[in-house]
Amino acid sequence: MINLSQTVKEGAAVVAEIERRSGQRITACLQCGRCTSTCVAAFAFDYPPHRLMHLLQIGLVEEVLRSETAQLCLDCMTCSMRCPVKIDVAGVIETAKAIADEAGLRDTEPNLRLFRRGFLNNVCRHGRLHETTLLLWFNLRTGKLTNDLSLAPLLLRKKKVRIFPPRIKNLRQVRRLFQQVNGSAGPPR
Ligand code: SF4
Ligand code: SF4
Repeated sequence: MINLSQTVKEGAAVVAEIERRSGQRITACLQCGRCTSTCVAAFAFDYPPHRLMHLLQIGLVEEVLRSETAQLCLDCMTCSMRCPVKIDVAGVIETAKAIADEAGLRDTEPNLRLFRRGFLNNVCRHGRLHETTLLLWFNLRTGKLTNDLSLAPLLLRKKKVRIFPPRIKNLRQVRRLFQQVNGSAGPPR
């Protein structure tokens, strides 16, 4: 196991460890930004995925390990599927999360874990994200039913959220993907 208390200061050593564990070459990143343009959660990150990759390239590892991006990434793999040089960006972030956990740098706030689970369940159920049911579910589970409710009229007016879940043609394929990853037919636990 990597001795993080020593190596967090030695950015290059931690980057090498991230590359070793994830099997990805961080130096191969072209900084094209495609991962960021397809990331559904980038709006909530402090560093969007391509900037996170750049921080690793220049050895600013502690920024990455302490980042909100490492806290909030949903592991949805969209960025990895769109990378033109086939870097598994989600895998890199996942590895950074694991190292941050080992170093005690990541806040494992239960609400974050709950939100991640709810997000994946929602995508599995509807085939794509239905924000309204996700937010209602999350508010119910956290006991804050009216949280952010005042934003609803504006979001609906601007068509940023939909009242009814989307209908997508390839729902079966999406569920099959979840099944392949989870090894069970249902949504992730
Ligand atoms: S899509 Fe790939 S090459 Fe482009 S910025 Fe993201 S990680 Fe780098
Ligand atoms: S895996 Fe994380 S960084 Fe990549 S698209 Fe999904 S939420 Fe964004």
